[in-house]
Amino acid sequence: MKVTGSSTEKTIWNYFIVKGMSPAGVAGLMGNLYAESGLNPQNLQNTYEKRLGFTDASYTAAVDSGAYANFVRDGAGYGLAQWTYWSRKEAMLNYAKKTGASIGDLIMQLDFMYQELKGYVAVFQVLRTARTVKEASDIVLTKYERPADMSGAVKAKRASYGQAFYDAYTTEKEVSTMSNSPLVTYTNITKNKTSPRNHAIDTITIHCIVGQWTAKQGCDYFATTDRECSTNYIVGKDGSIGLSVDEKDRSWCTSSRENDNRAITIEVASDTEHPYAVTDAAYSALIKLVADICQRNGIKQLVWSTNKTDRVNHVNGCNMTVHRDYANKACPGQYLYERHGAIAAAVNAILGSGTTQAPEAAPGAVQGFPETPFTVRVIVPDLNYRKGPGMSYAVKGQTGKGVFTITEVQDGWGKLKSGAGWIYLENPSYCTILGVASKPPDPDPADVLAEEIAGKVKGSGLDPEDILNRVEKILGVA
Ligand SMILES: [Zn+2]
Repeated sequence: MKVTGSSTEKTIWNYFIVKGMSPAGVAGLMGNLYAESGLNPQNLQNTYEKRLGFTDASYTAAVDSGAYANFVRDGAGYGLAQWTYWSRKEAMLNYAKKTGASIGDLIMQLDFMYQELKGYVAVFQVLRTARTVKEASDIVLTKYERPADMSGAVKAKRASYGQAFYDAYTTEKEVSTMSNSPLVTYTNITKNKTSPRNHAIDTITIHCIVGQWTAKQGCDYFATTDRECSTNYIVGKDGSIGLSVDEKDRSWCTSSRENDNRAITIEVASDTEHPYAVTDAAYSALIKLVADICQRNGIKQLVWSTNKTDRVNHVNGCNMTVHRDYANKACPGQYLYERHGAIAAAVNAILGSGTTQAPEAAPGAVQGFPETPFTVRVIVPDLNYRKGPGMSYAVKGQTGKGVFTITEVQDGWGKLKSGAGWIYLENPSYCTILGVASKPPDPDPADVLAEEIAGKVKGSGLDPEDILNRVEKILGVA
């Protein structure tokens, strides 16, 4: 197996950490879920796909629409945990209906699973306290999942899956590798890079590659060339997206060590001569890729300036640079250079509309915060804290790794108890929210009704006291 760092993985990891499970507990649980479903919440047990004539997607849609009515009793494993037994499937179906979510919805299944796990008292206790992945994995296997084969070999295999998640999500190196774009269609990592980068990602640098290549051609070139050059991403003429240097590492791309330490660099397939035009497919893939990079790295807005001094000094929040700022080159070519303002606008439109639309638009975003004060664990060494709650505020320093108390939250930023500044909370690659969110109590229904009646009375312009008297009379309480 391979830990992908997908938004699904990160969402599951954070979900259970926030619920108070230990990292080894979460990893042990995830290893089992991976063995069951590959962490795909829409996964229909493979042997049933043919038998029932469904794919994962068509089965999910048919259950949601009611077109397929035998979900509970068909004996097919489904979802993250491959729920099979009829009473468990029935309970999950009822839960999905109650919450209005799809039967294949990730968060719905996590909520349901969490409720279920609380009923498996011994399992739940171990998941909260486990120090080793093996102990958590074994008890999930033997007491919660209970597949037919619970041999030593199966135990070892599942624990190894869990260990991979544990290693990826609790060590600095792997935490960073998680944050490559899920949009990547081809990967060929080059040796031409500096690992790791020494600065948090806060800049985007778009280049033209001077050749109408696919992402694969670009990646393969950087992986084999004797020239000391590379890029984080390549966008192909057909809209393919290649990964050549992990985001956690510095590419050798922009003739500036300082720039490439803080920038994600992107080479876009282009014509070989002025104005170095790019295809529509490449342009639209570029927009999506940049928006994804911004979302995962806490860049809330792209700011472009036609003034080189603004760009290289990051004046007024300017966070797009171009190769020609650092070398006597035409790169990114007139075609892309002239479109930098439009690229920023298109990306910002996605970021703006995306902030309220979880989970797809904000992969892995934390769902709500606990009541303040609460604590967070910063898992990267260089998380900036800023003067105020936003990317436009000046950086005052970096927290270093550790646990910090947050006393106030605004727009996804948390105020440090020390008063030193604000850190961005919504990127799970930077920090993990500790502590459990407590929900506000439901309002008293009598208050709700009274508000409603009072609103009507006010709106009518009639004498409130007169109305009140009459109402009391009707109700017989006068
Ligand atoms: Zn360039």
